[in-house]
Amino acid sequence: MGRLDGKIAVLTAAGQGIGRATALAFAREGAKVIATDINADLLKKLAEDCPGIETRVLDVTKTEDVKAFAATVEKIDILFNVAGYVHHGTILETDEKAWDFSFDLNVKSMWRMCTQFLPKMKQQKSGAILNMSSVASSIHGAPNRCVYGSTKAAVIGLSRGIAADFVGDNIRCNSICPGTIDTPSLQGRIEGQPDPQKARKDFEARQKTGRFGTPEEVANLAVYLASDEAVYVTGKEYVIDGGWSI
Ligand code: NAD
Repeated sequence: MGRLDGKIAVLTAAGQGIGRATALAFAREGAKVIATDINADLLKKLAEDCPGIETRVLDVTKTEDVKAFAATVEKIDILFNVAGYVHHGTILETDEKAWDFSFDLNVKSMWRMCTQFLPKMKQQKSGAILNMSSVASSIHGAPNRCVYGSTKAAVIGLSRGIAADFVGDNIRCNSICPGTIDTPSLQGRIEGQPDPQKARKDFEARQKTGRFGTPEEVANLAVYLASDEAVYVTGKEYVIDGGWSI
């Protein structure tokens, strides 16, 4: 018996990294998974690797597209808003365009998804929402992540707000706050540095475990929070950072 048997789960940014690993874990635990991403090629690969997963191209920065997508999903038990982008730099290296883009993709996208799917959950009087935050947020100040950390702190506030407003409707909302997880975007950020070898060493040096986390380790936490095992758990942020923020 799967831990998510009979549940319908929608994920954003499920083409690679933590989103993909979680889509696979949800499917393994018996959920009917609708995996979305902006990148059709990544979704094609996911559908090939796990034919039971339904895939849809979705850009979460497009309000009308989110509305049109939500209209095609009749019932939903689990919504995992994964999409997010890491901007590098201090506040002085964050121009207005970068500030607005980060908040649009990392936070407003969750408003777009939640406002479409919450009414369905409210009607059925059940649902679990997971929002992807980061330990680099209101939990831990990370250098050169000023707007990123600001958006991820906003995700924590958004999640607590939703949890408080809909607890009476049997809808739970929690945020997940990973440390450094070995995903394609992390590799890209390392390769994009002037000295990738030094960048990798610097990233590793801040890991008290001596290694990065894996997308599968975060997926395990997401399965728990999405499942009925966590039925009494809402309005909280769940840190999974190998001790980075101790
Ligand atoms: P990633 O960055 O490797 O992949 C991101 C995915 O998002 C890609 O498949 C991409 O196609 C998709 N995407 C980009 N723009 C999109 C859009 N507008 N609409 C829909 N999809 C879009 O994934 P990751 O590193 O696993 O990160 C996923 C989430 O986890 C992000 O919110 C990130 O901030 C957060 N996070 C990651 C880490 C880490 O170390 N990797 C740590 C903490 C939090």
